[in-house]
This record gives sequence, structure tokens and C-alpha cells, in this order.
Amino acid sequence: MNSFVTHLEAAIDGTILPAGQLHGMHGGRPIWVRYDLAAIRAAVTPDVIATRPPNLWRYRELLPLPLEVEPVTLGEGMSPILDCPRLAKSLHLERLLVKDESQLPTGSFKSRGMAVAVSMAKYLGVKRLALPTAGNAGGSAAAYAARADIECYVFMPEDTPAVNQMEPYLFGAKAYRVNGLINDCGKLVRDGMEKMGWFDLSTLKEPYRLEGKKTMGLEIAEQLGWRLPDVILYPTGGGTGLIGMWKAFQELKELGWLKSDKMPRLISCQAEGCAPIVKAFEAGSRFAELFPNARTIASGLRVPAAVGDFMMIDAIRASNGLAVAGREATIGEWMRRTSSATGISVCPETAVCFDVLEKLITDGTVKRSDEVLVFNTGAAQKYLEALPPDLPRVEKEKSFTQR
Ligand SMILES: *Cc1c(COP(=O)(O)O)cnc(C)c1O
Repeated sequence: MNSFVTHLEAAIDGTILPAGQLHGMHGGRPIWVRYDLAAIRAAVTPDVIATRPPNLWRYRELLPLPLEVEPVTLGEGMSPILDCPRLAKSLHLERLLVKDESQLPTGSFKSRGMAVAVSMAKYLGVKRLALPTAGNAGGSAAAYAARADIECYVFMPEDTPAVNQMEPYLFGAKAYRVNGLINDCGKLVRDGMEKMGWFDLSTLKEPYRLEGKKTMGLEIAEQLGWRLPDVILYPTGGGTGLIGMWKAFQELKELGWLKSDKMPRLISCQAEGCAPIVKAFEAGSRFAELFPNARTIASGLRVPAAVGDFMMIDAIRASNGLAVAGREATIGEWMRRTSSATGISVCPETAVCFDVLEKLITDGTVKRSDEVLVFNTGAAQKYLEALPPDLPRVEKEKSFTQR
């Protein structure tokens, strides 16, 4: 056996699918990767993992790439968990942690999913990739495709942040601006599949990006000494991070690596201008409807329809969590307030989480004594558009010399 994957499993109806081959979706819905956890428990321990290099490949036994295959890597993973006492104090919290994913390759946590998905695609013989992107996914895919020497096609909405438009170009991909949203871009990928013979790398439309994102959950556990925080806030678009983290926690529980089985509450945060999961959660539904006129400056959250909606909602409910929308108008302010109180480059998606956090502290849902962890999923400097243009950012020159 060269990997611990036993099989794949359709998320919608449990259909068993063979490992070791290319998969898209099943029944129009995502696919889980399943492992022989008893064999992993016998093969490796947390102590052994602790001796490995600080990147996501340290969890090799819990990843789908066969052990003898070289991954396509840019050194992704093991982002720091930073204690933020100044910000905690201003929010009246005892302890606030930020897992800072802005430090990953291409400046966002998308590199986790892409590292694993592109590694698997290369291993399984893919020569050409295509994907829609709301922002960071395109640049990240292009970077890993460049590293793997695989052709890459990227489709993005016309108003995608400028830096995200530059990235695919920089990394040698073919990029197209689309008059529409990410689901319209996704249709172009689907429609071109037969003629172009590309592999669809869209969020949750192949099984392995999810496995890469799962490592966020593995890292939190390891970094906190094999225990988990009380509350996790996560900015939710397509949902791979949320779903992946919850999968990681279940696998760790079954492996017996956690010192306590107490699970964190997952708070899925969306921007009020595009909040399909919040809407479905509040309606008590397991599936979301297409969110009309989706608009938000937090481009990573601009996903009006997600194929993994029910997987997100299942995870939120199982964790006794919530889905909550943050206010659009406060995004720029929160970016500055949190960045200036922490030194962390906070992206607009995470700014939304802080608006939600403040609301939940005020209404008592999050207690002062709760250990809260917020994901900073990307770097602020990728979003010049998010700061108000009339903001006095840099003042006109003046002399400070004493006369
Ligand atoms: C893609 C993205 C998100 C949303 O992530 P999902 O796991 O797909 O829900 C959040 N923040 C940033 C910066 C992103 O690029």
C-alpha cells in the first residue's frame, strides 16, 4: 500500500468510488476521500509528526498523494497562530487567536488546496487544468501549475481585484475576464471541457482541494497541543475550508490524537451582499438557493451558489455553530482596526468575521472566556479596491525638523 486512502465516497448518497483515479463530482455533488485510520494510527504518531518539516506535507499519511510520489510544493502550510491581546482587549475577550494564512504562497490559504489538488492531478496524468475564480484561487492554481509544468486556464469575473488579475498572467496561465459571477465562469469551464480536454479544478468539483484545506484543522490541533479552541470563525465562500476543517477534526477524533473530544463551534461568516449559506441556515434548510445580485468587496465570499452547501450546513449544525452575515459597509474599517491592532495583514473576508465576532460577543453567543480563533485567509495587500479611495492613507510631506 502506497497511500492510506481506502476509497472515495459520494457526499450526497454514500456511493463508494475507487481510489487512485481521476474524479470530478458524483450526482453533481462533491466526493469525500476516506482513509484507513486504524492503519494510520499504527503507522505514525503525533511525536513522529512533530519531527517533520513545518509544511502541510508533515501530515502525509492523512493526504491522498502516494507516499513515494514527490509533491508539487511551494513550502505551504504551518502558518502561525498568533495571540492578539490588544485586539482581544478592545473586543472584551480574554483570548483571541488569529491563524494567519496571509503568509502562505501567493498570499492566501488557497495554496493549501492547490498544492494537494495539483500534486494529485500531475500524479494522475493531467496535462491541462481549468478553473473559475472569485479572486485568489486563480493565482494560486496558476502558481502550482507553473511549478508542475501543467497548462492552466483561469476564468474570472470582470471586476476581480487587480492583483488577482495579474497573478495568472505572472505565473504563465491563460486568463479570461467574464461578464458575470463565478458560477458563470464555472459554466465556461464545463462547456469547454470536451473540446479543450482540461481537468476542472473548481472548488469541490474534484476531491483533493478539500484534503489540502483539511490541513488547517490538523495544524490548529497540533499547534495548540492536540486540543481545539472553543470557537472558530471562518469566512465562507465555496466552503472547502469549513468542510475540510470539520473533516480533519473527525479524523483526529477517530485517530485518538486529541486530548479532549470537545469540538469547537464553527461560525461560518459571510458578507451580507452574498450570504446564501446564512440564508439557508436561518431557514433551517440543508441546501442553499442561488443568492441574487451577489455583491461584496470581499471577493472570496462572492460565491452565490456552492455545490458543497449541504456539507457546510451539516458541519455548522454538528458543531453547534452558526452562519452569520457581516456588514459590507464596515469591511474597510475592520481591516484597518484589526491590522493596526495586530500587525497582521487582514483581508476583507476576515474583516467580515470580526464584524460578526463583535456582534456575537455583544449578544452573548460568544462568551468573554471563550478561546476564539479567527482565520485570516488572505493578505490585505491583494485588495487595493477594499480601502475607501478618499481615505487619507499617506499625508502630504512635511518637515519635522525643529527650527
Ligand atoms: C476563497 C477565499 C475564501 C473562501 O474560502 P472557501 O474555503 O472556499 O469558503 C475566504 N477568504 C479568502 C481570502 C479566499 O480567497
